[in-house]
Amino acid sequence: MGSLRAVLAAEPEGLPGRLAEIDRADLPDGDVTVRVQWSSLNYKDGLAVSGKGKVVRSFPMVCGVDLAGVVEESGSPDLEAGQAVIVTGWGLGEERFGGYADLARVRSEWVVPVPDGLDARQAMAIGTAGLTSMLCLLALEAHGLTPERAGDAPVVVTGAAGGVGSVAVALLAGRGYRVAAVSGRADQPEQAAYLRGLGATEIIDRAELAGAPPRPLDKERWAGAVDAVGGPILATVIRQTRYGGCVAACGLAGGADLPTTVHPFILRAVDLAGVESVRCPTPVRRTAWKRLAEELPRDLLEEMTVEAALEDVPALAEEILAGRTRGRVVVAVNP
Ligand code: NDP
Repeated sequence: MGSLRAVLAAEPEGLPGRLAEIDRADLPDGDVTVRVQWSSLNYKDGLAVSGKGKVVRSFPMVCGVDLAGVVEESGSPDLEAGQAVIVTGWGLGEERFGGYADLARVRSEWVVPVPDGLDARQAMAIGTAGLTSMLCLLALEAHGLTPERAGDAPVVVTGAAGGVGSVAVALLAGRGYRVAAVSGRADQPEQAAYLRGLGATEIIDRAELAGAPPRPLDKERWAGAVDAVGGPILATVIRQTRYGGCVAACGLAGGADLPTTVHPFILRAVDLAGVESVRCPTPVRRTAWKRLAEELPRDLLEEMTVEAALEDVPALAEEILAGRTRGRVVVAVNP
């Protein structure tokens, strides 16, 4: 395979994000070459392919922040040809050629075997967004949250109909938490039914939290939170989290500003846990994938997954940034 199909990032004041051909010789250095079967569409891929966010700084760049496939060549004693593997994070699709190409060349220490019980498609249906949801759950648990301690108080999930949000709702509900799903699509019966199907016990209109008056503290509502949107909604969630609760923040789909005061932190002992999947250490990554394989019900995973072809990615990049994709989008590279 000398010529490879690849989706390239938009270049500043240059070429738009597009399906193109690259040469195998253009692949970066690395001791493992993976034949990519599946990748997935994440918010950051939307930014990179559309050029709307400055997530890519060197060009050309093959996008796709994650991939699952089969090892084609390995210079590592720990990985052999034919092995099914996942690679997520480590700057893939931003600083290093990513998953939207027939082949990827990576460093062996970034590679995680596809966990028992998952196939490559399911692994990418979970993908970076799902890994991040599990990292949020691990952060809440590290803070002492359990379904018993939460009791009747829900854990709130923002951006609930998106990729991170959908997996988070299903994981939390599966562990026995009450889950409040915050969505901009709460008024659409089909979307509300989707969120209830994933296990949400209440659906809250995004506008209710976005428009809440900016008081220092609000009534305590949440046992904990997974936030994928940032901005004023995150600020509201923080001041509605009950005494001693934790808010796991991972995203900024609703803005990067955080208009809060210190009151929730110093008067309610609320903790804000930042969650970052890109450089997440490998042992934590393996734990998170193992738990995802064990805990995420396959029927719900299938329910939240939409399949797309490589050539669909440039158009879908615009859709995800506009908040119009639902759940997870898997990209069939060489299924
Ligand atoms: P999606 O686009 O799939 O989901 C984001 C969701 O946020 C949308 O579906 C929508 O949900 C909601 N949303 C969209 N626009 C707005 C807005 N203007 N205001 C409020 N809510 C909005 O993206 P992902 O789930 O893949 O990623 C979500 C966020 O998490 C992104 O910011 C992404 O960069 C970040 N992320 C961070 C990672 C990390 O390691 N920290 C890893 C992966 C993702 P609804 O319609 O239900 O309101």
